[in-house]
Amino acid sequence: MIPFSPPRIDQLIIDEVTDTLRSGWITTGPKTKKFEKLLTAYGGQQSTLCVSSASAGLELMLRWFGVTAGDEVIVPAYTYAATANVVVHCGARVVFVDVREDFNVSVEAIARAITPRTKVIMPVDIAGWPCDYDAINELVSRPGFRAMFNPATEEQKMLNRILVLSDAAHSVGGRYHGRRVGNLTDITVYSFHAVKNLTTAEGGAICLNLPAPFDNERIYSKLNSKSLHGQTKDALAKTEAGGWRYDILEPGYKCNMTDIQASMGLVELARYDADMLVRRKQIFDRYAEAFRVHAWAQLPDYENEEKTSSYHVFLLRIRGIDSETRDRIISGIFAREVAVNVHFVPLPMMTYYRNEGYDIADYPVAFDNYSREISLPVYYDLTDEMVAVVIRVVTETVAEVLCC
Ligand SMILES: *Cc1c(COP(=O)(O)O)cnc(C)c1O
Repeated sequence: MIPFSPPRIDQLIIDEVTDTLRSGWITTGPKTKKFEKLLTAYGGQQSTLCVSSASAGLELMLRWFGVTAGDEVIVPAYTYAATANVVVHCGARVVFVDVREDFNVSVEAIARAITPRTKVIMPVDIAGWPCDYDAINELVSRPGFRAMFNPATEEQKMLNRILVLSDAAHSVGGRYHGRRVGNLTDITVYSFHAVKNLTTAEGGAICLNLPAPFDNERIYSKLNSKSLHGQTKDALAKTEAGGWRYDILEPGYKCNMTDIQASMGLVELARYDADMLVRRKQIFDRYAEAFRVHAWAQLPDYENEEKTSSYHVFLLRIRGIDSETRDRIISGIFAREVAVNVHFVPLPMMTYYRNEGYDIADYPVAFDNYSREISLPVYYDLTDEMVAVVIRVVTETVAEVLCC
């Protein structure tokens, strides 16, 4: 069986994790702080806070901005549940909007969904393809939408417009107009979950890039404390002489990253551009070249003059089929020992959101993308021989299912 997305675990990772285990310091400490500095340099944002997951990072930022009952947050219908669930945790209303043929959120649909209750927009860079950030940033700055904004907290008053909180779980290393994902909008959250491009087993990072008069370093300190029960000192500072005394400034959360996680991240980040992204792009190019010749194949966008993907997963679509046919193709591919996936079942189709009254009929593009989509494996250890097997198996199975 060719697996879908195993992590890259080699001797370098094992050595660095072992070094942490032997160091006597396994929770948040020097390696996490170093990883944060290197991520800041990499993404080009002002400051970076590592956390236990992207979900925790997104929720921490919604809480920081004061999102609460009565507020609305705009989320694409086509994403993983984390993006919307964190909004529900805060007591706010999820306002789903439709996406475009390239899987990313429709900026026109966002514009139609904005109301005086809108506090945050959460774009998602599906499969690593950056959203149209210029258009999204322009939208929230429009005088009409600014005038509509109802600030309730200090942070909301200071920003005085809708916050753009980007879910970049897939797109670490993606580029838009030459700039890396991380400094394209107010706040960007990375995921380092085991299936993501750059993994720490579980983990995430909040990239802070708020405009003046916000002080991103001060916000970093505030969020750092918020990720540790609102404590004034972290575990490392408490080990220093006289460091035992601390205060609790607010009832914070517990979502800090450990140095064990950060040690994996340090190795992965050091070889990310020159090694990981290069290999992922090669796999994308091979798939694109092989499938381009088939009339049934619709290829994903992954590079143009404006944008470069992080090549997270290859979202192949089959033209003119319904979801039952897609499901039969997937069964046939699995029967030939290749693991594929679907990214994503639109959230309005999930039981919880359906029961909340969302209707997939309102998101026709998300439904069409989902119905015809098959995600192909892309990972560092996928060899050229394995890529050739995937291509042969997909081509054979599609031919077999479409002919009868
Ligand atoms: C994986 C994923 C997340 C959640 O990441 P975690 O680090 O597991 O919390 C959020 N959004 C999208 C689009 C994802 O694919």
